[in-house]
Amino acid sequence: GRRPGLDVVLVGDDAASQVYVRNKAKACEEAGMRGEVHRLPATTTQPELVALLRGLCARDDVDGVLVQLPLPRHLDEAAVLDVVDPARDVDGFHPVNAGALLVGRPTLAPCTPLGCMRLLEHAGVALEGARAVVVGRSNIVGKPMALLLLQRSATVTVAHSRTRELAQLCAEADVLVAAVGRAGLVRGAWVKPGATVLDVGINRGADGKLVGDVAFDEARERAAWITPVPGGVGPMTIACLLENTLRAAWRRAGYAPAEFSL
Ligand code: NDP
Repeated sequence: GRRPGLDVVLVGDDAASQVYVRNKAKACEEAGMRGEVHRLPATTTQPELVALLRGLCARDDVDGVLVQLPLPRHLDEAAVLDVVDPARDVDGFHPVNAGALLVGRPTLAPCTPLGCMRLLEHAGVALEGARAVVVGRSNIVGKPMALLLLQRSATVTVAHSRTRELAQLCAEADVLVAAVGRAGLVRGAWVKPGATVLDVGINRGADGKLVGDVAFDEARERAAWITPVPGGVGPMTIACLLENTLRAAWRRAGYAPAEFSL
């Protein structure tokens, strides 16, 4: 009987963040949801931000609350994320939701890895017993990505900046996820023929154009499936944000956990 609603909080004037929050609110409206952006100055204090978040999380028409990262340096990111009600934490960054993902309980999983899983499902990629390599171990992409792949019974390796022989490791992957933030790090020769490659990275090239972490033109020669940048994982992240907002609204309306599962 009511529209699901997402409230996005942006602190400061980071150019990329401005674009992201605008796209998120626009996607909500296009899908028939309420999408609202709360813009705060870079000088906002921790108590001011916490008060806004507490207020939003107490409102009945607010199903999802998202704090756009990165925050200005003077704000304590972890403490801010802790304030978001886990039931409205549509980014899946609250420790309660991260913990639920770890132990395999119904949860709101981070949108980017969730979007990657949707792409794998759509392409019909067999994950059971498959070798998956996730390059990157951040809390928002690498780690939850590894957990979601593990949930689907892939054999998962997580690589990072200290990993030795990264090229050889990647070359064994049936599913290769690059979430690093280094333009063209993953070369074509690192891709196993017939592999599925998900490129999460968003980097600005010397010419100002957006490029991924994978050398796309080389890798496409060997991969069975590969996502482009832009236009691959990015739009899926937004789609899954809407999915999570709907899921949060369902749960708050009293639907059963089965309907809330991933
Ligand atoms: P972080 O910077 O938090 O993490 C990067 C990870 O990459 C770290 O674990 C780091 O290792 C690892 N790393 C860095 N250099 C290397 C290297 N040379 N070899 C192997 N591993 C390396 O980034 P995020 O996870 O937040 O984001 C990753 C990328 O994805 C960025 O480009 C970001 O813009 C993009 N992104 C895209 C989204 C989308 O919607 N498409 C959403 C979110 C992010 P260590 O831990 O050892 O430092």
